[in-house]
Amino acid sequence: MQHNLARARANAPGTRAWAVVKANAYGHGLEQALRGFAAADGMALVEVDYAVRLRELGWTGPVLLLEGWFDPADLDTMAQHRIGGAVHCFEQIAQLAAARPERAFDVHLKMNTGMNRLGFRPDQFHDAWQRLRAIPHVGEITLMTHFANADESHHPCLPVAEQIRRFEQGAAGLPGPRSLANSAGVFQMPKLADALASQWIRPGIMLYGGTPGGATAQEYGLLPAMTLESRLIGVQDIGAGEFVGYGSRFEAGGAMRIGAVACGYADGYPRHAPTGTPVLVDGVRTRTVGRVSMDMLMVDLTPVPQAGIGSRVVLWGQGLPVDEVATAAGTIGYELMCAVAPRVRLLAD
Ligand code: PLP
Repeated sequence: MQHNLARARANAPGTRAWAVVKANAYGHGLEQALRGFAAADGMALVEVDYAVRLRELGWTGPVLLLEGWFDPADLDTMAQHRIGGAVHCFEQIAQLAAARPERAFDVHLKMNTGMNRLGFRPDQFHDAWQRLRAIPHVGEITLMTHFANADESHHPCLPVAEQIRRFEQGAAGLPGPRSLANSAGVFQMPKLADALASQWIRPGIMLYGGTPGGATAQEYGLLPAMTLESRLIGVQDIGAGEFVGYGSRFEAGGAMRIGAVACGYADGYPRHAPTGTPVLVDGVRTRTVGRVSMDMLMVDLTPVPQAGIGSRVVLWGQGLPVDEVATAAGTIGYELMCAVAPRVRLLAD
C-alpha cells in the first residue's frame, strides 16, 4: 500500500492525495488502509459510518464523503467528526442551508462533465457555487469532477480531454482547489500534465495494486496489497468421461487429478469464473475446473503432481494479478477485491 501510494505521488508531483478507502478499503480493511496510507493527505470514502470509524481509529486528517450524504440527518455527524462531503445537487445545497451544524463544512462541488451519474452540469456550476458560498457554515469549496474513461485516452464517446475541457469551461473564474484524477487519471498525468495539475488526486484501485485497465499492474509498477489464499482440502484421481462439480460442467478427457480448494463464492470468489480461470497451486500456475461452489472450487492438478492436502493455493495476489483472474471471470479487479467475504481470515499484514 505504501509503495503504491508513493507510485501515485510520483506520477502526480505537487498534488495532494486522497486515499480512496470506500467499501472497507476495497475489501482490505480500514485499519490496514490507515496503516498503509498513513502518508496520504486525506481519506475519501462513501459510507458515513466508516468515516466515523476512521476518526475512532485515530485518523485526524481530512475525510471526504465522495458522494456526499444521503440523509440530511448525517450532517450533524459529519460536522461533529469534521467529515467533508461532495455536493452534487441543488437538494443537497438546500439541506446544507437549512442545517445548523456546530462547525463549518469543507465541501467538494461536483460537476457532471459527461458521466451523467452525479453532479451539476457545467452551465449550472457557477450558480451552485454561489449558492454554496452564501451559506455561512460552508468552509473551503473544492471543485471536482469524475472521469468515465481515463483508462482509454482516445475513447470514441467521451475522451478524458473532453471531460477536462468541459470542467475548465464550467469552472472558469471560480476560486478553490481542483480535484479530478482517479487512478486512471493519475496514470494519464504525464500526458495531460497541465490540465490535471489540479491540487488533489483521488486514486483508489491503484493503491491496492489493481489497475483501472489500460495496462498491467506490472507495467504500472504496482504491487498487490491483497493475496487471497487457501489450501487444498481434497484430491481425487479421475478418469476419462468423469465429471466435476455441480451441474457436471467439466468432463475429464483422460486420467487426471482434481484438487478441491477451500474457497468458494461465499468467500467472495466469483461463481461465474469459468473452467480455465488461473490459480496457483504450490506456486505453479494451473486452472479451475467445473463450477465454483459455495465453499470450494476445484482445480486441475496435472501441472503440479506433487500437490496434496494442505498445498497452498493462491486465488489472486502475489504471483497472480487480480486483474488476470477478473478478466478470466468477465469482471474487474475492483469487484473481486470488494467481494471478499467477512468469513475470510486476515492472516498477516
Ligand atoms: N473518485 C470518485 C468520485 C470515485 O467514485 C472513485 C471510485 O470509483 C475514485 C475516485 C477512485 O477510482 P479508482 O479506484 O478507479 O482510482
